[in-house]
Amino acid sequence: MEAPVAKNEYYDVIFEDLTHDGAGVAKIDGFPIFVPNGLPGEKAKVKVVKVKKGYGFGRLIELYEQSEDRIDAPCSIYKQCGGCQLQHIRYEGQLKAKHKHVKEVLARIGKIEHATVHPVLGMNDPWRYRNKAQVPVGEREGGLVAGFYKERSHDIIDMDACLIQQEMNDIVVQTVKQICEQYNIPAYNEQTHKGVLRHIMARYGATTKEVMVVLITRTEELPHKKKIVEAIVQRVPNVKSIVQNINPKRTNVIMGEHTRVLWGSEYMYDYIGDIRFAISARSFYQVNPEQTKVLYEKALEYAELTGKETVIDAYCGIGTISLFLAKNARKVYGVEIVPEAIADAKRNAELNGITNVEFAVGEAEVIIPKWYEQGVRADCIVVDPPRKGCDESLLQTMIIMKPERIVYVSCNPATLARDLRILEDGGYKTIEVQPVDMFPHTMHVECVSQIVLREN
Ligand code: SAH
Repeated sequence: MEAPVAKNEYYDVIFEDLTHDGAGVAKIDGFPIFVPNGLPGEKAKVKVVKVKKGYGFGRLIELYEQSEDRIDAPCSIYKQCGGCQLQHIRYEGQLKAKHKHVKEVLARIGKIEHATVHPVLGMNDPWRYRNKAQVPVGEREGGLVAGFYKERSHDIIDMDACLIQQEMNDIVVQTVKQICEQYNIPAYNEQTHKGVLRHIMARYGATTKEVMVVLITRTEELPHKKKIVEAIVQRVPNVKSIVQNINPKRTNVIMGEHTRVLWGSEYMYDYIGDIRFAISARSFYQVNPEQTKVLYEKALEYAELTGKETVIDAYCGIGTISLFLAKNARKVYGVEIVPEAIADAKRNAELNGITNVEFAVGEAEVIIPKWYEQGVRADCIVVDPPRKGCDESLLQTMIIMKPERIVYVSCNPATLARDLRILEDGGYKTIEVQPVDMFPHTMHVECVSQIVLREN
C-alpha cells in the first residue's frame, strides 16, 4: 500500500497502543506510526521522521492531551540514557502494559490463548533494585567518563547516579572511576582498539552488604595495580573481592575468558530466602534479589513437588533454582554452560548442606539427552534459558522424556511463546503464566509458566 504519510510532515494523532519498548502507536489512515514517548489515549502533534514499507516512525512535537499514566521521569538523564524506557509511565501503568504485552505475544506467536496470564507481580518500591552495575568507561578531556550508552549509540553519558541501581553500586563506580583517573589509566577506545579500562563492574549483596569490584581491561597489564587495589580497599566499604577480567577482543561482549583475583576472595556471598550463595565475577546471578525470591517461589509452587520427584534444572547458573527446589525433591540435576558457575553451584550446595543435587557443565541440549540415555527420568523439568530461548532439540528431548510438569522461566516473552507452541504440539498444555517485574522502568519482563503433560 502507498504510505498515506510523508517524511518531515506534521500530523495530529491519537495514540492507540504502546509497543513493548515504550513507544506510542498511532494510526494515520490505518498506517501505523511509532512515536517514542507517546502514551495510549494521548492527543498529539507528531512529525514523521522515517517511512518504511508498512509503518513509519515519528517524533512527538506537542502533547494536546495527557494520559493519566504520564508522570515526569524522576531520573535527570532519562531522555539521553538507553537504560530505562518506561520511567515516564506511572508504575501501575507499566505493570498493566507488561501484562498486555505478555498476553498479546503468547497469542500472536504461540497461539496460546487458553492459559491464565496473571497480573504482573510488581515491587512495593520499584527503585534502587539492581545489585549489579556494568558501566562502560570512556575518556573526555582531562579525565574519565563512566556511564551508560546513549540510546542506539556507543556514546557514553557520564553518570553519577542511576535510580534503578543499589546506591552502593553508584558509590563503587564513582570511587573506582576517580581512583583510575588519579592513576591516569587510559580508557579503552572502541574505534582504535587501544587503551586499558573497558568497564567497571560492581556487585552488591543486598542481604550480606558485601561488595565485589571487577575491573575489565583490554590488556593483561593494569598500570599501578597495587596502588589502585589499595585505594579501593581503603575507600569502598565492605569490599570482599577485587577481580580483574581481561577482554582483549574487539567485541560487544563485556567480559573476557580470563579472570584473576587482585585482592580478597574470588567470590562474594548473598542470600535468596535462607539459602546462601557464593557468586564469582563471571557467573550469572539475578539482578533483582527481592523479585528473584518472588520468582523462585512461584517456580517452586508450579513444580508441585512432594519430595519424591526427580527434577532437572536446565540453564541452572550457580544453582539457585536447583537448591531452592532440592528441599522438596528426591534429587535435582542442574546443567549450565559456564564452568565457573557450576563450580559456584557445587560450592553452594555444600555451603547449605544440600546433598541431593548433581551439577554438570555443558549445553543443556547435549547433557540432558545424555542423562536420558543413562536412564535419568525427570518428573519435572525447569528451564530458565537466556533471551534466545531453548534450543529446539532440548524441547524435543523434553517431549520424549515426558516429565509430568515443565516450569519455564523466561526473560523474553517472544521466545517463550515460540517454545510453548512446540511443547503444546508435543503433547503439553500451558496452564498458567505469571509475569514478575524483575526490571521496573525498563521494557523487560520475566515470566514463569506451568506446563503439564496432557492426559491421553
Ligand atoms: N537459573 C539461573 C540462571 C539463568 S540465566 C538463575 O536463575 O540464576 C541463563 C543461564 O543459562 C546462564 O547462566 C547461561 O550461562 C546459561 N546458558 C546459556 N546457554 C546455555 C546452554 N545452551 N546450556 C546450558 N546453559 C546455558
